[in-house]
Amino acid sequence: MRWLAFLLALFALTTPVQAQKRIAFSFDDVPRRAGAFMTSDERTQRLIAALRRSGVRQAAFFLTPGHLERPWGAGGEARIAAYVRAGHVIANHSYSHPSLSRIGAQAYLADIDRATQWLQGRRGYRPWFRYPFLDEGTRRGPDPATRDAVRAGLAARNLLNGYITVDSYDWYLDDLANRARAAGQAMDMAALRDLYVEIVVEAAEFADRLVLATLGRRPIQVALMHETDLEAMFLPDAIAALRRRGWRVATMDQAYRDPIARLAPETRYLGGGRIAAIAAAAGRHPRELIPALNEEAEILRLFNERVLRQPPAPAP
Ligand SMILES: [Zn+2]
Repeated sequence: MRWLAFLLALFALTTPVQAQKRIAFSFDDVPRRAGAFMTSDERTQRLIAALRRSGVRQAAFFLTPGHLERPWGAGGEARIAAYVRAGHVIANHSYSHPSLSRIGAQAYLADIDRATQWLQGRRGYRPWFRYPFLDEGTRRGPDPATRDAVRAGLAARNLLNGYITVDSYDWYLDDLANRARAAGQAMDMAALRDLYVEIVVEAAEFADRLVLATLGRRPIQVALMHETDLEAMFLPDAIAALRRRGWRVATMDQAYRDPIARLAPETRYLGGGRIAAIAAAAGRHPRELIPALNEEAEILRLFNERVLRQPPAPAP
């Protein structure tokens, strides 16, 4: 009986740890075009510093090597190497960022192979593939043949689907802020920071509620972000806010060890991430699977009101 009590105590000790909210971070489209707030090199340095300061030991950078051929891609290889030197890992986000629903399985897999050629053998490489636009071939309608052809192609190449579970929708707010900056508009930078933090926290908390309702447990969440100026400026604020709400930071290696990494949900609703797809396959309506602050009209409204301090639009 004493042993039983001991085991129960051990269980009680370990359970809250396992029940903790955990999140890993990933950044897509690397190397990305420079923003209006800083140079590409400065952005990389600040992002590396932000990750270190926030206790993110290992994030994943999903690369689009075709960007290196663009005029603004110059120096991208050195920036990628800097992320790896800082302890982060790199993975495949296709060569030219095509949409699977547009180009079909064969051309799509060839584009993936081109990116693999660039990545293979490099330090920090992980055999993970993230679908551009999170488009797994069913954007224009149900197309299980295309979806399954690429799934089989990834399996044949030993590439894991680099799924996400938290869509921060960062690129849209970053786009609004960069346009305003380029146009010389006055911005309340504290309000921009707070809005960025609010969107990230809301997306993570939404994903937490969804995963508990769907799986009844808490796999490590995988946040989708991009290599943007906003991340370089405000990521530590977002992670601090997450920690205040009980989140802990995990590595991407840890995240993809979860059994959900081996699933291939039988649904056409795949753009909302892995948990949303599992929920959709189980019959949840897609409208229930999107965080409120993933709506562009709502982000635009909040940006205009709070960051640009424009008077609210009159009610219709
Ligand atoms: Zn992308």
